Amino acid sequence: MRIALVSDVHANLEALEAVLNHIESENTDTICSLGDVVGYGSDPSACLELVDKICQIKLIGNHDYYALGRESSNDYSPLAKISTEWTKKTLTDKDVSILDSFTMEEVIEGIHLVHASPFKPQEFHYILTHKDAADAFPNCKTNLCFMGHTHVPVIFNEKPGQPPRQRVGHDFVPQPDCKYLINVGSVGQPRDNDPRASYVVYDTETRDVCYHRIEYDIKSAQRKMEEAELPEMLIERLAVGK
Ligand code: ZN
Repeated sequence: MRIALVSDVHANLEALEAVLNHIESENTDTICSLGDVVGYGSDPSACLELVDKICQIKLIGNHDYYALGRESSNDYSPLAKISTEWTKKTLTDKDVSILDSFTMEEVIEGIHLVHASPFKPQEFHYILTHKDAADAFPNCKTNLCFMGHTHVPVIFNEKPGQPPRQRVGHDFVPQPDCKYLINVGSVGQPRDNDPRASYVVYDTETRDVCYHRIEYDIKSAQRKMEEAELPEMLIERLAVGK
């Protein structure tokens, strides 16, 4: 089975459509969304409807969670707060019921899926350091765990008796005796200095993990964010992938 893994769409419809077009050419059997469909961008409703229709697994991210009013955004950056408040006002009742159906974690075809970390998924911990990875590994339900959240495609791996290793997201075939935390990057707001949308295809037979970077119409996404009067910094960062 070929599984497409997308995360952190962040209401960027141009990026989502470009990625879905590319996924069509990849002969995948299923598409999984790892959360944060809304927040930051100008098209939360259209992105939610598309993800709901096309993805078989839909996880809830922290921005989705806050948009549902489930957790205060007090520990958020001011920009994230502004966009969360804007998103909340924009969502329809239908959008809210779609968000409400999203799940916190799933295991399918021998892979574990979370938004942020398998360590207390509902607390949305960032996996940025070896220590974060060391906390996360014991909570992995399978040898391969896929996530998003940091918007940076990165891979941590752990061999029995050795400390975790960190590498930039790249195509590879997992070794059977290793555990992996695989961040698929962000569709709608990449932050690794590459503005192209990021997603991953995993093939359960060959065990290939394959990263894809997809160009999309960034200017059009930015124009719509300007019309929605979203913060300038959120608009500018799309062009530089930061
Ligand atoms: Zn995010």
